[in-house]
Amino acid sequence: MVVLEHVNKYFGELHVLKDIDLTINRGEVVVVIGPSGGGKSTLCRSINRLEPIDGGTILVDGAKLPEEGKQLARLRADVGMVFQSFNLFAHKTILQNVTLGPIKVRKVAKAEAEKQAMELLERVGIAAQAEKFPAQLSGGQQQRAAIARALAMKPKVMLFDEPTSALDPEMVKEVLDVMTGLAADGMTMIVVTHEMGFARRAAQKVVFMADGQIVEESTPDEFFTNARTERARDFLSKIL
Ligand code: ADP
Ligand code: MG
Repeated sequence: MVVLEHVNKYFGELHVLKDIDLTINRGEVVVVIGPSGGGKSTLCRSINRLEPIDGGTILVDGAKLPEEGKQLARLRADVGMVFQSFNLFAHKTILQNVTLGPIKVRKVAKAEAEKQAMELLERVGIAAQAEKFPAQLSGGQQQRAAIARALAMKPKVMLFDEPTSALDPEMVKEVLDVMTGLAADGMTMIVVTHEMGFARRAAQKVVFMADGQIVEESTPDEFFTNARTERARDFLSKIL
């Protein structure tokens, strides 16, 4: 579903992604973990071309994302993204946040878009908040709205970049539960998170990334009980 080959990315002199090779199969959940500044966010952003890459190829469902133009908006819709900071449109209702993409990019009729949006809001448990504005919702509700908004584009892959890091502890579970449900439904997911419970429950693969490189790739069980590299063991000793 997602194939990265020899992906390289620089910010000026800084080599942020160093020859990344990574394959994510259809229906697979991959957790990306690693120290701050290691390139995890840049990796996510490069997969849907929020960041251009300087070398290598990225294929999503067999298609290379074009650098720009109309095609990009359509193909980008294949990759849903959820950020740490929710990024909802503050002056639109939750329902409008969810219907905007389908109406503008996928040319879905308004009534149909609203029907589908209400189903998604139901699925993430916030249908009752549809007419409210983002600021009227809790952080956990806002993040679930952001997930519904991404799903409304019917993506083939969902990227989550530290989706629970900005949440109060009591709201983490409601967001992880929605993500676990998505994984169980067969969504292909790339999730940057340090939530080990989620990794163990939902992921087939853990990718440990540091200094722009994939240092280790293994099953959650192997990684958390028996990391192969000193770098990973050192990291785990700090977060456990
Ligand atoms: P992570 O998500 O693992 O914390 P990032 O992908 O955010 O890592 O960052 C990787 C490196 O790239 C860091 O050194 C960061 O400071 C740098 N970086 C990220 N975004 C930019 C940018 N827009 N311009 C310059 N440097 C950046
Ligand atoms: Mg990051």
